[in-house]
Amino acid sequence: MSTKSESCSDNCSSCQEDCTDRREEHIDFSEDLHHMSSVKKVYCVVSGKGGVGKSSVTSMMGVTMNKMGYNTAILDADITGPSIPKAFGIKEKARATEIGILPSKSQEGIDIMSVNLLLENDTDPVVWRGPIIANTVKQFWSDVIWTDIDYMFIDMPPGTGDVPLTVFQSIAIDGIIVVTSPQELVSMIVTKAVKMAEMMNIPIVGLVENMSYFQCPDNGKKYKVFGESHIDEVAKEHGLKVLAKIPIDPEISSACDRGEIEKYDKGYLEPLGKMLVKIEEDKMTKIAVASENDTVTEHFGHCINFNIYDVEDGKIINSESIPNPGHKPGFLPNFLNDMGVKVIISGGMGGGAVDIFNEKGVEVIIGASGNAKDAALAYLDGSLKSTNAVCDHNHD
Ligand code: ADP
Repeated sequence: MSTKSESCSDNCSSCQEDCTDRREEHIDFSEDLHHMSSVKKVYCVVSGKGGVGKSSVTSMMGVTMNKMGYNTAILDADITGPSIPKAFGIKEKARATEIGILPSKSQEGIDIMSVNLLLENDTDPVVWRGPIIANTVKQFWSDVIWTDIDYMFIDMPPGTGDVPLTVFQSIAIDGIIVVTSPQELVSMIVTKAVKMAEMMNIPIVGLVENMSYFQCPDNGKKYKVFGESHIDEVAKEHGLKVLAKIPIDPEISSACDRGEIEKYDKGYLEPLGKMLVKIEEDKMTKIAVASENDTVTEHFGHCINFNIYDVEDGKIINSESIPNPGHKPGFLPNFLNDMGVKVIISGGMGGGAVDIFNEKGVEVIIGASGNAKDAALAYLDGSLKSTNAVCDHNHD
């Protein structure tokens, strides 16, 4: 491979030469949300083929997060097989206004957008070509007004075709949930999903096995209707988690058929819901800086105030100053830990306090000085390290 020629115009997109200076164009397919929308977290629910219960899992996931008190939305991207509105018994169509499309609301308040909410008759088939289908999904993201959504779940079309690809490229997705059933070629499907996720640089949250078994209501025995499950081995092979195993339950299909999925309440997806919340909590940190007003103090126990910084995704989003509630041995570390503090920064600190913080899993940074907020920022960018020099004189 040669270096670029003297006549090079530096426009790689119009040149076929495979030279060492070639720069690949990065094409950004991402679509912006409607300017009035706010969507915090987006999870895609995918499957290898139709009929494994992807839409049912998406619906139940929406119901779970909504019950947990989060503003929830479902974007039905399964354009040719839309089944979300039916599962929620939504009859009212979505409303197009001058400023954007308003999603329909389920009885419990989940915002839902689906092509069925735009068609005159639910039974009208969608006989559109791939690019039009993909554009419709993009519009569901960019032209619908999604108001103050904490969690959005996208019911993806099955497989790894044109539409899923467009969705992954155009929507800011936080994670993928893969739904399988025991009768599928699970290993192949999961491997494909993992490769696609890697290509798109989106993490897989884990696997949900649907129709995992049937528990006989008469004798309580579990029957593996579709044969032995291999989900645990496959998950292990890829370093993934099995997030839930949902049995075959006629109540799921009848609840979907009646449009009452919100009344189905067996909690199979609750652990997954809690895990999604924990993912966010783990990104949040509280840093306390033992201070004298806005300056890092030398003496942890005798500081005047604690400057507390709430951190999300590595950035300070909130700060407050709390007066030192008093200096009694052992009291302050417990006080700060109870407040949810994960990092304490100080100039100096006694061994007793350090031990309690360590026990509680609170990181201790000693040896800091100067402006309190600057110290917190330096901790966040990795430039502030603890000297670990514990004070031996008596100041907690
Ligand atoms: P997909 O979205 O993968 O095509 P659906 O969620 O539409 O699949 O499910 C296909 C059918 O199976 C639906 O009638 C649904 O009600 C039913 N179903 C899904 N999961 C279960 C389950 N765990 N037990 C019983 N029926 C189920």
